[in-house]
Amino acid sequence: MYNLQSEITFLTGVGPVRAEVLNREISVFTAEDLIYYFPYKYIDRSRFYKVADIKSDAAYVQLRGKFCCFSDETAGKKKYLHAEFFDETGGIDIAWFQRIKWVKDNIEPQKEYVIYGKPKQFRQDFSIVHPEFELASKFDNQIKAPFSAEYNTSEKMKKYFLNSRAVGKLIRTIFERKPVFEEIIPQYILNEYHLPSINEAILNIHFPQSVPKLEAARKRFKFQELFINQLSLLKQKKIRTNSISGYYFEKVGEYFMNFYEKKLSFELTGAQKKVLKEIRADFKSGKQCNRLLQGDVGSGKTIVAVMSMLIAIDNEFQACMMAPTEILAQQHFDSVFEMLQGIGLNVRLLTGSTKAKQRKIIDQELLSGELHILIGTHALIEDKVQFKNLGLAIIDEQHRFGVAQRAKLQKKNTNPPHVIVMSATPIPRTLSMTLYGDLDVSVIDELPPGRKTVKTVHSYEKQRGKVYKFIRDEILKGRQIYIVFPLIKESETLDYKNLEEGYQTITENFRAPKFNVSMIHGQMKTDEKKAQMDLFVAGKTQILVATTVIEVGVNVPNASVMIIESAERFGLSQLHQLRGRVGRGAEQSYCVLMTGHKLSSDSKKRISTMVQTNNGFEIAEVDMRLRGPGDVFGTQQSGTPITFRIANILTDGKILFAARQKATQVLEDDPLLVKPQNKNLAIKVESEIRSSWGNVS
Ligand code: ADP
Ligand code: MG
Repeated sequence: MYNLQSEITFLTGVGPVRAEVLNREISVFTAEDLIYYFPYKYIDRSRFYKVADIKSDAAYVQLRGKFCCFSDETAGKKKYLHAEFFDETGGIDIAWFQRIKWVKDNIEPQKEYVIYGKPKQFRQDFSIVHPEFELASKFDNQIKAPFSAEYNTSEKMKKYFLNSRAVGKLIRTIFERKPVFEEIIPQYILNEYHLPSINEAILNIHFPQSVPKLEAARKRFKFQELFINQLSLLKQKKIRTNSISGYYFEKVGEYFMNFYEKKLSFELTGAQKKVLKEIRADFKSGKQCNRLLQGDVGSGKTIVAVMSMLIAIDNEFQACMMAPTEILAQQHFDSVFEMLQGIGLNVRLLTGSTKAKQRKIIDQELLSGELHILIGTHALIEDKVQFKNLGLAIIDEQHRFGVAQRAKLQKKNTNPPHVIVMSATPIPRTLSMTLYGDLDVSVIDELPPGRKTVKTVHSYEKQRGKVYKFIRDEILKGRQIYIVFPLIKESETLDYKNLEEGYQTITENFRAPKFNVSMIHGQMKTDEKKAQMDLFVAGKTQILVATTVIEVGVNVPNASVMIIESAERFGLSQLHQLRGRVGRGAEQSYCVLMTGHKLSSDSKKRISTMVQTNNGFEIAEVDMRLRGPGDVFGTQQSGTPITFRIANILTDGKILFAARQKATQVLEDDPLLVKPQNKNLAIKVESEIRSSWGNVS
C-alpha cells in the first residue's frame, strides 16, 4: 500500500525518471516530502471568465468551454497545432508548439473543459499558447478550493512535464488516498497560539478553503518550522553541555598578566571585563565554551579574543583564530603580532598562499607545541593541519562560515576545544537566533571611552571643491584624514586604477610641503605598507589614501575625517566598518560619503541610512532588508538554514520569538524529548539535526 513514507517513484504519475528529477531538483523523496513542498502563491480559481470578456493580456484567465477545429499550421518554419476554444460568448485561438501529438490524442472535442492560461494580444485578437486544461467533470470533482496553489518549479522539472500544475496534481493524488497526518505539535501549544491541527493546515495550505483558513495554515507552518529549528539548536546545546567535557583552564598565568600589566595601554571597558568574565567562567566550568561574541565596530572585540587566547596558552594549550578572507587573516595577524610583541609568544599566519617552506615550519611547530597561536583562513581547518593541543578556536565573521566549518574545528583535538565566534559586524537579533541559536551570547554593549558620534554627510561629485576645502581646514586645525577607494571587484586582488588616479588628484590638490600624503593598498609589500602607515601614525603625513585594507584594525585617534570615494559601491556593513576608523580621538569626527549623481534606490537607502544612524544593529537590520538574509549572511559553503521553507526571518520575528520561548520551555520539561506528547516532535527535530550536522558529526 502506498503511504506517506513510500518512495515518490511509486506514486501514480511519477515513475523512476520523474522521481529522479524530484529528488534532485526539490529534494522530494517521499510522498510526505511532497506534501511539505508548499505553494509560493495562490490564484483565485473560483472565477471563470467569458471569452468575450477578455479585453487585455494583463492577467491569467480561466475559461470553461469546448475545443474545436484542430489544424496543423506553420509559423515561419515552426509547426504548431491550432485549435479554437469557445463558450457561449465566442471563441479564442489556442496554439501548441510542443507535445502536439499528445494533445491531439488526448483532447476530446465533444467534452467540456476548463482551461487556464495567459492571453496574448495580436492587434484585436487574443490567443492562448499552451494553456493548462482539464476535463470539466474532473475539475468539478476535485477537492473544492476557491484558490489554486502555484508551486515553484525549475526548468529541469518543466522539461519533464513537472510544471506547477503537475505538481499540484501529484499532491492531489496523495490526498485522494485520504492520508492522515500525525500531529507534531503538542495540543496545548496549538491551543495557546490558536493554531490549526496538522490535517486542517495541510489541507488548507494546498487547497485553501478560505482566506482566513489559509492564513491560519501558513501561520501554523511558520511556527512549526521555527519551533523545530529552535528545538534542534537548543537541544544540541543541552546535549553538548551535558555530555562534552571541556578543557579546564584553571589559571590566569604569566602571559596573560604580562600582557595585562605591560602591553595593555588602556583600561578595559566595563563591557569588555564583563565578557571576559563570562568567557573565564566557561573555561572553568568543565564544559565546552561555545560563545558568540557580539559588539559594534570598534567596541574592542579583538582584545577580548587575544586575552582569551592568552588564558589558553597559560594553561599549556594552543589557540587559533580563523578569518574568512586572506586580507582579514593578514590584518588579524598583523594586529595580534603587534599586540603580543615582547611577550615571548610564537604567532604565525597560515593561508592558501603560505609558501611550502613556511608551511612545513608551521606544521612542525604546531605538532611540537612550539607554535602558540595560529591565525589564518579556511586553510586552518584542513585535515592536515594538526595541533599538539588546541584548546581554543576563535572564528571571526562566523556568518561567512558554515556549521560544518565550526564542526571541523571542534575536531582538532581529542576533546573539542573551546570555541568563540566573533561577528565582525552586528547581526539582527532574529538572525543570530536562527544562525547561532545553539551558542551562548556575550555582547560588548559599550564603546571605549572618548568615542564621539561621527557626523556623516553625503556629498555629490560636483561638491568635491567644497569637500577639499573642508579637508584643508581640518588639516590646518591639526587633524588627519583617511580617503578610501573601493575595491571594484569583491576579490583579493585590487583594482588600482581608481586608487592611483585618486592618489594623483589628491597629491595635485594637496601639495607638499604643507600637505603630505601616504598611500597603502593590499598588494604592497608588508614593509612598504608599514612604512607608509608609520608616516601617517607619526603625523608626518596628514592624508592616508587607501583601499579597504584599512577597514579593520587601523587605529589613529588623531584621524578625524573619513572620506569614502564612490561610496555607492560599498555595502552597508563595510561603510559602517570604515566609519568606525574615526571618532576615536578627542575631536569631533566626520565621515563624508562621496557619490556620483545617479544612484540606484538601494544605494540611496544605504547612504541615507549611514547619514541617519550610527547604530550598527540598526544598520545590519537595513542591510538585511535590502539584500535579504541569504545574501548578507549566507555563503555557498554555509549549510545554515537561514532561508526557511515558509518562515521569513525579516517578517516573522514575532513568531520566531514565540517559537524560541516555547522551545526553551519544552526542553526544560523534557530535555531529551522522550515524553509521549513530544514523540512526533522528537522525530522531526532529529531529522533536522541530521540534515544540518549529519555530514560532519
Ligand atoms: P572591533 O570590536 O571592531 O574588532 P577592535 O578590537 O579592533 O574593535 O578595537 C578597536 C580599537 O579600540 C583598537 O584600536 C583597540 O586598541 C581599541 N580599544 C579596544 N578596547 C579599548 C579600551 N578599553 N579602551 C581604549 N581603546 C580600546
Ligand atoms: Mg574587529
